[in-house]
Amino acid sequence: MSSIQQSPVECVYEGRAQLGEGPSWLPHEKKVLWVDIEKSLVHLFDPQTRANQTFDVGCHVGCAVPSRRGDVLIATAKGFGQLNRSSGQVTWITNPESHLPGNRFNDGKADPAGRFWAGSLPYAEDSPAGGLYVLDERRVSRKALNDVTISNGLAWSGDHRTMYYIDTPTMRVDAFDFDPATSSISNRRTVIRVPEGVGYPDGMAIDDEGMLWVGMWDGWAVLRWDPRTGRQIDKVELPVARVTACCFGGENRDELYLTSATTRLDAATLAKQPLAGGLFRVKLGVKGPPPFEYIG
Ligand code: CA
Repeated sequence: MSSIQQSPVECVYEGRAQLGEGPSWLPHEKKVLWVDIEKSLVHLFDPQTRANQTFDVGCHVGCAVPSRRGDVLIATAKGFGQLNRSSGQVTWITNPESHLPGNRFNDGKADPAGRFWAGSLPYAEDSPAGGLYVLDERRVSRKALNDVTISNGLAWSGDHRTMYYIDTPTMRVDAFDFDPATSSISNRRTVIRVPEGVGYPDGMAIDDEGMLWVGMWDGWAVLRWDPRTGRQIDKVELPVARVTACCFGGENRDELYLTSATTRLDAATLAKQPLAGGLFRVKLGVKGPPPFEYIG
């Protein structure tokens, strides 16, 4: 297997996050937006200064995405909200799962049309009681998918016609036909089957070659897969077990930023991975696009 890893993996922020997740590169500011779900925090990390700005949103926050208006949209245990970066205040938009107090929102991203996708999970993670939702430009949400257990990675192909999706316990990456005009999905099929023994597929990013980088929970690595063949084609190892999500960033778009977790690890296990919960970076021989921004 030829590696396209161009530098050692570096821990750029030893944040000791409980459940670090959902990184997004903000190309204009050259910063990384990310969350610590279980600490109810949205973070903004500046790789230049290594400063990390933190917003406490007051409830478990599954993901944070940039909006075209310069604020941040979040999906949380209380549904969708808008975080004002100047005041730190959250304006709540809608909670499509207000009738499901045992659920919270998890991973999410804006799509190529600027609509905000986010999925949910039941806290017990033991039944398909979650769903996948889309918040449109009018700030109205609709449910796009039922029967989700742990909603996680999302990515869109370079031509915007395919959406990739991970519901972690399925151990699969599925693809849908994606219509950018309406953000509707159809024709679900499986493109990658993750074998046992390499961890669980979590967050995901796509590179300029159309390959998928999947953070592996309890896998000590991010794996690169070809969704056209279903084969794993590369691997970058990390010094932490719970690799949760990744995004492309850096001025040349050739760095991968990765989040990680310490949650539910006992003291002895944590002692063996002192950088768990950190934010990591590795330079690659391939580039990836910046995130789409929410339009509403
Ligand atoms: Ca996740």
